[in-house]
Amino acid sequence: MAVTSTSARSAPERLSAGELAVTQLLLTHGPATRGDLGDRLNLSYASMSRVARSLIGGGIAVEDLEPPSAIGRPRQILTAVPGARHVVGCKLTSDTAYGVVCDLFGEVKATARAALPEPDADGVVPVAATAKVIAQLAAKLGRKVPALDGIGVSIGGVVEDQSIVVEGTFLGWRDVDLATPLRERTGLPVIISNDVAALAREELWFGAGRTHSTFGLITVGAGLGFGAVREGIPVAKTIDNGHLLSHSPVDTRGPRCALGHRGCVAAYLNREDVEAQASAEAGRPVTFADLIEARAAGDRSATARLDAAARALGHLVCTFAGALQTTCIVLAGEDVAVLADTASMNKVIADRLRPGQAETQRCSLDISTASLTFTDWARGAAVTTTQAIL
Ligand SMILES: [Zn+2]
Repeated sequence: MAVTSTSARSAPERLSAGELAVTQLLLTHGPATRGDLGDRLNLSYASMSRVARSLIGGGIAVEDLEPPSAIGRPRQILTAVPGARHVVGCKLTSDTAYGVVCDLFGEVKATARAALPEPDADGVVPVAATAKVIAQLAAKLGRKVPALDGIGVSIGGVVEDQSIVVEGTFLGWRDVDLATPLRERTGLPVIISNDVAALAREELWFGAGRTHSTFGLITVGAGLGFGAVREGIPVAKTIDNGHLLSHSPVDTRGPRCALGHRGCVAAYLNREDVEAQASAEAGRPVTFADLIEARAAGDRSATARLDAAARALGHLVCTFAGALQTTCIVLAGEDVAVLADTASMNKVIADRLRPGQAETQRCSLDISTASLTFTDWARGAAVTTTQAIL
């Protein structure tokens, strides 16, 4: 049964490369004249006119005449239409589907959530039942907008071909095709993505990507996550699920990570590792939240542990920026607020950037912290889907 078939509109034609480029500029930088757009994208007057006509005809953009000035012809201003597309984005955790429905500008029009089915005896969350939960969530969100154009699902782990969950870290999934059952149930295009890659795509249009064509994204929370955009192109799938960066060395005399490396980034910064060390020291279970609370109460051990985590984050930022050759790193995640922009982190970064006596090249980093609630994660999935279906 097609759950949302009543609200799904017939698939609009995909945009050409030129149309997509103009749409992206209108979405990320606001209204612009045909002339400005043509100049920025190196399109001839004739090509730009063709693209503008097509976008207006397809309902993606509208055109207004600027009030005529004393001299010269009135200029034609193109503006993207927010309601031209609506997509559902859904972030899956181990037990919950968090959904949003967004317009073309990635603006959240409504949110909803639903419990995922219980895992079976092998710890695997049933796939067909999960697809049903997501389809129902999408149908519910679809009723808040005129029509739906697609569904995006983001998930922690490894995803291939925008459809196959090769490794679903929190769901016990291996080589699971989530797109097909979801497409069959809804009749809509379905895009499955790694959650951090989806966030990077969202940043490309509506965050760091507006000012930097190359940037890195680091998430610190349940695990460390990495996303990258190079020269305007998002890296769809990391080669190592972030392993090389997570386990880069910080201090060879430091604590061991779960893999046995002494003093790697993960040993200092990964939540599970930090909690295991703090629990072993205290002789009772200690969570990351406990550490934050203890530090606020003046506890020296907790303070030292969080300072060490912040220093490791500083090293990670520098290593990633250097390898990616960008000055722009975005930090996000549940645990990042207490670590980012602290004296401990900033001192490491300043020290790593300090040039030698004879060196003339200077560099500074543009480090921003993005908020990251489950709604933000879901929005990443929605924006990724809009980019894929346009
Ligand atoms: Zn390690």
